[in-house]
Amino acid sequence: MSRLAEKVIRENESLLRDISEKMWLNPELSYHETYAHDLLTSTLEKFGFAVKKQYILPTAFRAEFGNGKDGPTVAIICEYDALPEMGHACGHNLIAEIGLAAGIVVKAAMENDSSIIGKVVVLGTPAEEGGGGKIKLIENGAFSDIDAALMAHPQMNNILYPLILDLARVTVTYKMKEELDPWENVNANDAAVACYNNVAIIRRGFNPRWRVSGVIKRSTWEETELNFSYRAPTLRELLTIKKKLKKCFDAAAKATGCICEYSFLEDARNAYRGMIANKRMAEVFARHAEAKGIEFQDGNPRICESAVSTDMGNVSHVVPAIQPEYCIGAQAPHVNHTPGFAVFAGSSEAQEPSLKIAASMAETVLDLMTDSELMMKVKVEFETNPNRTHAGHIRQAGE
Ligand SMILES: [Zn+2]
Repeated sequence: MSRLAEKVIRENESLLRDISEKMWLNPELSYHETYAHDLLTSTLEKFGFAVKKQYILPTAFRAEFGNGKDGPTVAIICEYDALPEMGHACGHNLIAEIGLAAGIVVKAAMENDSSIIGKVVVLGTPAEEGGGGKIKLIENGAFSDIDAALMAHPQMNNILYPLILDLARVTVTYKMKEELDPWENVNANDAAVACYNNVAIIRRGFNPRWRVSGVIKRSTWEETELNFSYRAPTLRELLTIKKKLKKCFDAAAKATGCICEYSFLEDARNAYRGMIANKRMAEVFARHAEAKGIEFQDGNPRICESAVSTDMGNVSHVVPAIQPEYCIGAQAPHVNHTPGFAVFAGSSEAQEPSLKIAASMAETVLDLMTDSELMMKVKVEFETNPNRTHAGHIRQAGE
């Protein structure tokens, strides 16, 4: 840890832990994070940031510190929503803590050294757990003046490039044809089973990074409904899966003589994009994290390809971004989104790795502000990535 980062973090260690604990003890669901919003914004104000409360969304915020000179604007992303009945089972209290910590380190460094030019934005983004808070912030221009964005997420392992996939959903219904000859005795339930099996069969030929999961949600002789979610690293692959799924749905209808309808839910809520991790930025972050003893386990696909989806993926399509994951000591079966993980997110063991990650994030931001060549390379990599799409609009790059 740089001497200054170490000093600022040690001076504020107990305050940071206290804030994290308060959020952990008061878990709030998507778009209802008023306690976290007020706690984080009042703290950022005390540290001298210019804070816009209720920024675009009632529980979003934007805290800025700049030295008025023409340099890059870098956003550090905070999340702070919890899960129903499980509290902070995804550790977003820690994401808010490390975002705050990184922000105050960057501010202190800028005050200490006038050659660092630019602006740091601590951006409070609500409703990651299914609500797509960042998608709404993107659509309302929150990232229009941002040059790069970063955050880190607690997990069971240290992963520099977690597999964060494009996510879409589809609902399929089958109805029995009324005029069907009773001797044929085929019903909508048979169609649902055939559909489920078709999907299960084609899944075996999938690219290992593709995911499809589904349930038969309701089923009677007359009518059935199935829900599937499907994921892939890029939108192009997602559309390939979509075509394959349509064939499965239609084939089940053909075989059983049922009427089939499907609706692919592609509204903003469901359109979480795959993450395009900016390699230049990730390499800088990794150098700082590894210097603090953090070892990334990206070589092991069983660890780094657990495959999740997040609205930070959408951010990575509008600005260069990274979202590494870091270990807070939790082990199987206490994966993210389980009550066991919530215990770790509130534990004292989670603090030391979180603070090391916060310092590494701050040092990455400072590198972007002081090394214009690095910033340029980060931007070129972003702009030339062929998988980039306009966030939140699946059809634009689609069929
Ligand atoms: Zn999460």
